[in-house]
Amino acid sequence: MTTILDAVRPVTAGAQALFDTPAVLGMLIDGAWQQSSGGNTLETRDPATGRTIATIADASPADVDDAVAAARRAFPAWSQTVPAARAAILNRIADLIDAHIDELAELETLDQGKPLHVGRWAEIPGAVAQFRFFAGQAMAIEGRTVTPSITYQPAGKQIAAWTLREPVGVVAAIVPWNSPLVLTAMKLAPALAAGCTVVLKPAEDTSVTALRLGELMMQAGLPAGVLNIVTGRGAVSGAALAAHPGVDKIAFTGSTQTGRAIVDASRGNLKRITLELGGKSPVVILPDADLDLAIAGAANAIFFNAGQVCVAGSRAYVHASIYDRVMAGLSDHAQALQLGHGLNPGTQMGPLVSVQQATRVEGFIAAARSSGADIVAGGERRGAFGTFISPTVIGNVTPNMDVVREEIFGPVLVVQPYEDIEAVVEAANDSPYGLAASVWTQSLSSAHRLSRQIQAGTVWINCHAMYDPSLPIGGVKQSGYGRDSGLAALDNYLEWKTVCAVV
Ligand code: ADP
Repeated sequence: MTTILDAVRPVTAGAQALFDTPAVLGMLIDGAWQQSSGGNTLETRDPATGRTIATIADASPADVDDAVAAARRAFPAWSQTVPAARAAILNRIADLIDAHIDELAELETLDQGKPLHVGRWAEIPGAVAQFRFFAGQAMAIEGRTVTPSITYQPAGKQIAAWTLREPVGVVAAIVPWNSPLVLTAMKLAPALAAGCTVVLKPAEDTSVTALRLGELMMQAGLPAGVLNIVTGRGAVSGAALAAHPGVDKIAFTGSTQTGRAIVDASRGNLKRITLELGGKSPVVILPDADLDLAIAGAANAIFFNAGQVCVAGSRAYVHASIYDRVMAGLSDHAQALQLGHGLNPGTQMGPLVSVQQATRVEGFIAAARSSGADIVAGGERRGAFGTFISPTVIGNVTPNMDVVREEIFGPVLVVQPYEDIEAVVEAANDSPYGLAASVWTQSLSSAHRLSRQIQAGTVWINCHAMYDPSLPIGGVKQSGYGRDSGLAALDNYLEWKTVCAVV
């Protein structure tokens, strides 16, 4: 019997090959594809069904050494390449991703579980946009001329001074499993534009599309060693990379806990670090909001990609006067969402990435229930492989419950009423995180005021999770430091050099 959890057959040849027979995928080191030197592999499963779709190499520290050495060898030539040549390659990468968008979207669905439309229309076009944006920026890197006030220069001489921007060196890009391609592009595009070389470490659960991207990037003319990809366990190859003395900078997206491990590992050679970490983003709905827009927006803010989004709107604060109506609307939305295999066209929400993640999310729901919270919608685990969690809306919570405080990374929304703006600002800011927030109101002055008072790297107004390569993304507080995307991201990969001359 066929159920909604079974997949329709992919349409692209690349995804069909994987669908029919598990692939054996190597790592990219110095322009060549190879297996782990220790011979270890990991299985990659379709998270909806549990079927093995590929085996990937489980890199050893020796493989990491090789990848870093290749990136170091490639750095002098790549960093000296004229910017227009780097831009041309980045544009060709964008063209090739675009040309393979259907295949990449199907691969992402098989590997990560997300509904096809999420990859096809949101994330992979987002990856293309990152490469195009930073292709342009590669040709706009500039320092400043400076007029110092130094008075002790030799008589009759002047001081001339200027600054140069230089690539930071070898970058370790370590990315998570929730939105693999776009998050990878957010690191690779500015790093390569700046003239850095890279060792990429995708997440162990979702390495397939990173490896396919690597093939396309080599096809685009990227010289050997400029991009290297090591796959495998975070605690082994990720940790080896984070501690490696040949790495100058770590660009990390992932959990706050792993972010701390990366800071510790970076101490040896004082690597530059940017961290895009966890979040518990508030969604604040004011009494004057357009409620149809706000309810649909708040539902989408948490259920998109099954809540596996760093900026997921996981805490809704709803004015007491509209609480019942909004709660009913959110619960209707949750119950109407069609769960299924991401390849099925009717699917609106896919599985979580792994059984382990589904078990973790289920644990938060169970703890909330036993602490007296109301599970207003969802809360069940589904699917033969146990990776689906039905869209969950929880009311009657207290601010100290784990479900309110911890990043869950699943389709779980807690909804709390508030009485006045001061109280909601305090509640929204009562979190160790500060990644993002959204405010739903028709009052310009309320929107303006809240956008300043809420502690977050991004505040959206009457929308949530709007991304563009021109917009910086990152957090305050324990959501990390540094920014991906936008002009700010390029700065992560450049050092300032001051030149001061007596002329
Ligand atoms: P999550 O908790 O969301 O699964 P993680 O933060 O653990 O995410 O993982 C994000 C990325 O960090 C993955 O590529 C993972 O392999 C890697 N990673 C995990 N542990 C470490 C570590 N100790 N050092 C470096 N990278 C790690």
